[in-house]
Amino acid sequence: PMTTPASTGTTDGTVPAADPDDTAPREAASRRRTFAVISHPDAGKSTLTEALALHGGAIGQAGIVQGKGGRRGVVSDWLEMEKARGISITSAALQFTYRDRVVNLLDTPGHADFSEDTYRVLTAVDSAVMLVDAAKGMERQTVKLFEVCRLRGLPIVTVVNKWDRPGREALELLDEFAEVTGMTPTPVLWPVGIGGDFRGLLDLRPGTAPDAAYIAFDEGSGGATRTTWTPLSLEEGLARDGEVLTTAQEEVELVLDSNGPHDEASFRAGRTTPVMFAAAVLNRGVEQLLDLLVDTAPPPADRPAQDGGVRSVGDAFSGQVFKVQAGMDAAHRDHVAFIRVSSGRFQRGETVLNARTGKPVGTKYAHRVFGGSRTGVEDAWPGDVVAIVNATGVRVGDTLYAGRKVAYPPIPTFAPEHFAVCRAKDLGRYKQFQRGITELHHEGVVQTLRSDLRGEPAPVLAAVGPMQFDVVQHRMAGEFGCEVLLEPLPYSIARRTTAEHAPLLDAVPGVEVLRSLDGDVFALFPDRWRLQRIERENPDVVLDALAADS
Ligand code: GDP
Repeated sequence: PMTTPASTGTTDGTVPAADPDDTAPREAASRRRTFAVISHPDAGKSTLTEALALHGGAIGQAGIVQGKGGRRGVVSDWLEMEKARGISITSAALQFTYRDRVVNLLDTPGHADFSEDTYRVLTAVDSAVMLVDAAKGMERQTVKLFEVCRLRGLPIVTVVNKWDRPGREALELLDEFAEVTGMTPTPVLWPVGIGGDFRGLLDLRPGTAPDAAYIAFDEGSGGATRTTWTPLSLEEGLARDGEVLTTAQEEVELVLDSNGPHDEASFRAGRTTPVMFAAAVLNRGVEQLLDLLVDTAPPPADRPAQDGGVRSVGDAFSGQVFKVQAGMDAAHRDHVAFIRVSSGRFQRGETVLNARTGKPVGTKYAHRVFGGSRTGVEDAWPGDVVAIVNATGVRVGDTLYAGRKVAYPPIPTFAPEHFAVCRAKDLGRYKQFQRGITELHHEGVVQTLRSDLRGEPAPVLAAVGPMQFDVVQHRMAGEFGCEVLLEPLPYSIARRTTAEHAPLLDAVPGVEVLRSLDGDVFALFPDRWRLQRIERENPDVVLDALAADS
């Protein structure tokens, strides 16, 4: 469960002294927009990311996402194939300047089995773009990720993609969004032409000039380069597209009547979601999406700390580690910690402290990581992501800070639903085995559980999705020189319990109690029937659902 700030953290009731350069991080924060795209696989996230990068000038040409056939569902997707694609590598951040704003787009893994990684990325953003396939609507993974965004209170922009080909009706899609999310969809850029006949967008954004109310796409533009369009007045639009435009106007009227127009305060409060239509593959709507984000998505804000206080963005540097990854660079076995800056100015070379351990962390090797490339970073501001290479002793969820101490609430873990006993194929490699498993645990690749009954050499691995196990096998062999065997266990539910209740639960047939490396005690159940009966018969036994349990 997430902590909500109840009171301010200062014990003497005074406002902490502001840093002398207080205004610099505040100003930098106000110029930043940090977001992630959530979607079901195949909705077009990679394509959109690339299109955004193109418009932000981060890459010269679209179309480098290619040869992706058959990449789904294979382990190599996780790193090697992503590397080969040259973009969108494992939850890195893409940064570019658009207008006078700095846009940070954090990548999220597409596959449902890595939703825990996605969750962690969502702790590092200030808003999310929910990308929906026009023909498919709200798919399962989209709904799941939407719920995570809601849990984190993230404002959501909805983008209907693939309007260049036949799909469902716009009005019907909006109905579905409202029904599934409980948010009111408000139209901001409405399509002219049905799916497959995408002629342009009615611009309903506040402040749009009447002579530019219709963004009419120029025939034949878009694809590998920017889409071009002509801003038209509605009269000019009618002359060009006639009835097709009239239909769009009627639809807009209906939606506005029932849902109302886009309102920034309701959007930021999560009550409404602005909706627009696009065709990422043709770069249609992409520039408008960037404008929308820059104009209405929230900048980094002061952040609640674990002790109930609040860290102002203008305070000294602080940030939370949302991802740790080893083996990104095969040539130099390394350990990279990704930090989202929450306050102050990050300066390379400055020594910062880890709030959990109290130990200093060197930042000499600070990078910006995007795709296969790393560039050194001298400083970073609230909303930015920095990667610190060789940040030993740093784990996911850790807070790093300078100046006054701060610790952000821990990043909750997902409830694992898959469990397997893990053994080294060759017991002579036990040392490598231990080192690898511990590392993968701290990276958050899987959770590691142990019990006295099973003994040390065979920990139980717990995962949200089975592909996490494939990653373990792959990396244990490739990086740690230890092949492992995995034997699935028949459990599907985990509950957090206490050491005191462990013996009682352990005695129930079919139930097993294990301890995590972090000291938590978990009871594993084969099915919810078994769990419910135990809950009924032992109402006093602590059986807490894990965060983000659905
Ligand atoms: P991801 O799994 O969400 O990253 O989806 P991809 O970006 O890999 O896209 C999945 C497929 O949909 C690819 O074949 C894309 O070319 C295609 N696609 C993406 N955006 C569009 C679009 O706007 N229109 C059409 N027709 N296809 C698209």
